[in-house]
Amino acid sequence: MIPEWLTVEPYARRVQSATSEDVVAALNAIHPAEAEFAALISPAATPLLEALAGRSRALTRGHFGKTVSLYAPLYLSNYCPGGCAYCGFASDRKQPRHRLTMEAMGREIEGLKAMGMEDVLLLTGERCSQADFTFLHSCAAEAGKHFHNVSVEAFAMTTEEYAALEQVGCTGVTLYQETYDPEVYARLHRWGEKQDFAYRLDAPSRALTAGLRTVGIGALLGLADPQREMLSLFRHAKHLQKRFWRSGVMVSFPRICHEVGSFSPDYTITDRQLVQYILAFRICLPDVPLVLSTRESAAFRDGMAGIGISRMSVASRTTVGGYGETPAEDEGQFDVQDVRDVRVFCDAMRSKGLEPVFKNWDTVFQSEAGSAKAAN
Ligand code: SF4
Repeated sequence: MIPEWLTVEPYARRVQSATSEDVVAALNAIHPAEAEFAALISPAATPLLEALAGRSRALTRGHFGKTVSLYAPLYLSNYCPGGCAYCGFASDRKQPRHRLTMEAMGREIEGLKAMGMEDVLLLTGERCSQADFTFLHSCAAEAGKHFHNVSVEAFAMTTEEYAALEQVGCTGVTLYQETYDPEVYARLHRWGEKQDFAYRLDAPSRALTAGLRTVGIGALLGLADPQREMLSLFRHAKHLQKRFWRSGVMVSFPRICHEVGSFSPDYTITDRQLVQYILAFRICLPDVPLVLSTRESAAFRDGMAGIGISRMSVASRTTVGGYGETPAEDEGQFDVQDVRDVRVFCDAMRSKGLEPVFKNWDTVFQSEAGSAKAAN
């Protein structure tokens, strides 16, 4: 079931056997790969976190300058026929369901533009009659008229569907595998289309094949053995980079937190662990944007900005209609920890010597990119 490019043996054993000498060697490696990554996420690296942070900070500065790029999630619908045990939108969770009308979408766009946002991530639940591909396509087309960067985080799609999104101005797809452990995956995805592990795993490749510019991948930390998850995520990113060397891969670090229902994760990921994983990714994938959402606290996000993290969501609402109306408090997909508004967040970044970037891609380049693609 696990493709060869995703197998994590023997690197998982190396995580347990790595010594401090292995960690120092990994820190000094010119082209760190899986073996070095395993050493950097190992228990042996934990006492050397300061050294990892120094290397990570220098690489982040070298590849991204003194910047943090910003985006905002825009929830289009919380209807979902899915049965993900860890999610507040799962179909067995009782809460009001909404879908944006085009009029409400206009209010959301106005709200986000008023905040200065130029980069949005459109979200839905699993494919369903209330929020199907046609609905998502219409919303992406509308968002494309107003924002410089539009990406989607929804259900796994066909190559043709991803190509249709690209045609209306969508530039990227975010799709977390949630867990790379097939047994845990089968247990937690109790029903719905998302039960197909292999189809989801291949979705980022289909998106890039279709011509989208970037894909964002991640594992929901807390669902399965975190070291194996990080190894798998690393291998997934390397696989995509190798296969689609002209495209961009981004890596996110969602850590499971409170949601509706009684789900409690099998693993608790401490701040120190999460820091170590982020630093290891930065050291081994120096030019890959690493993303941290408002699931994390303001203090944690401020601490990681510029040290490894180069991209963050800001002033997020995880409710449908959150930017244009006043939603009920318990409707979000997950609790937002960093509730600062854009101005306060940007002030915090500037106080650290970092410049928040609202727009790092101009649609004027899109036709050129399209022509270049057609010419190849
Ligand atoms: S994670 Fe996505 S597919 Fe699963 S229940 Fe939540 S919204 Fe639905």
